[in-house]
Amino acid sequence: MSDGIEIEGLVFEAARDEEGHGASRSVTPTLTAEDLEIDRSLRPKVLDDYIGQSKIKESLRILIEAARSRGEVADHVLFSGPPGLGKTTLATVVANEMGSNIKTTSGPAIERTGDLAAILTNLEEGDVLFIDEIHRMNRMVEEVLYPALEDFSLDIVVGKGPAARSIRLDLPHFTLIGATTRTGLLTGPLRDRFGIAFRLNYYTPEELAQIIIRSATILDIEIEEEGAVEIARRSRGTPRLANRMLKRVRDFACVKANGVIDEDVARRALEFFEVDHSGLDSMDNKVLEVLCVQFSGRPVGLSTLASALSEETDTLEDVYEPYLMQQGFITRTPKGRMATPRAFEHLGLEVPS
Ligand code: ADP
Repeated sequence: MSDGIEIEGLVFEAARDEEGHGASRSVTPTLTAEDLEIDRSLRPKVLDDYIGQSKIKESLRILIEAARSRGEVADHVLFSGPPGLGKTTLATVVANEMGSNIKTTSGPAIERTGDLAAILTNLEEGDVLFIDEIHRMNRMVEEVLYPALEDFSLDIVVGKGPAARSIRLDLPHFTLIGATTRTGLLTGPLRDRFGIAFRLNYYTPEELAQIIIRSATILDIEIEEEGAVEIARRSRGTPRLANRMLKRVRDFACVKANGVIDEDVARRALEFFEVDHSGLDSMDNKVLEVLCVQFSGRPVGLSTLASALSEETDTLEDVYEPYLMQQGFITRTPKGRMATPRAFEHLGLEVPS
């Protein structure tokens, strides 16, 4: 099972950082050890405290109220979207609003069907089971999950060889909440078993500024609205990054200024941490440089791009690309990834005709 760290019933996997990439970057939205401590205090607990994603919140409110009024568990829910946007947070919010306990695990942590059987049989009536990175669950394990999701039952095989027989166990009624950074990698049968699926979007700078001000209040950090807006603009639309930047800028403000985060301090701090005005850090800029300079704006295949950057293809697809694409710096074509005119302009290069 998982060797992650458990906090308040949530098991956090270590951030993918074996190569020394990723977690050390200030704009990496994957979870780092530093975040665990911040996460605990900053995670909103109820829907009213959850900022942004208003459509999703409204739908969840209806889902929860309908289930509660019928005295039933809520339908299984799937959240998808890049790391750090609030999928885990929403899962805990749903559990809190339902008045349920949440049990947390992740796709790769459930290695064998027996692991899943143990998790399912330990659930209590009305529990929420949260499976992060559900697209990385092994297929055999996934098949055991289907009857559990459909009619709350578990088929297990007892004994071996000719004496083996299958028995069916009844499970308590529960709600599965799955989270994935890639809906495309989910198998059709699994996707079909979720009653409702939501895709989380990047947050607007205004929403992020609200999140930063809320976090600053909780962490007792003095911040002016303009300072929050400056940090928000450079946080890649991602609450986890906004919270992390806030802490970094607070440290900078304590050492280099009078501890108060105003617009000027925020701007100087973020420049010091090499996060530019578009929220791009040195790694993002390197992606753009490889596409614009090394490959002169021609389409580049994912694996070629990954090796030019000494980065894993998964990290490139999950972490860097979505934001660069959303901001219109790169596009995906059938022949590969391509820099847009905006990327050339960002690097101060002439746009090729
Ligand atoms: P994900 O599961 O999508 O990777 P998390 O749910 O772990 O992301 O969110 C990362 C952090 O961002 C959380 O600790 C939480 O403090 C903060 N956060 C996420 N969404 C919101 C939100 N809508 N409002 C306030 N804080 C948020």
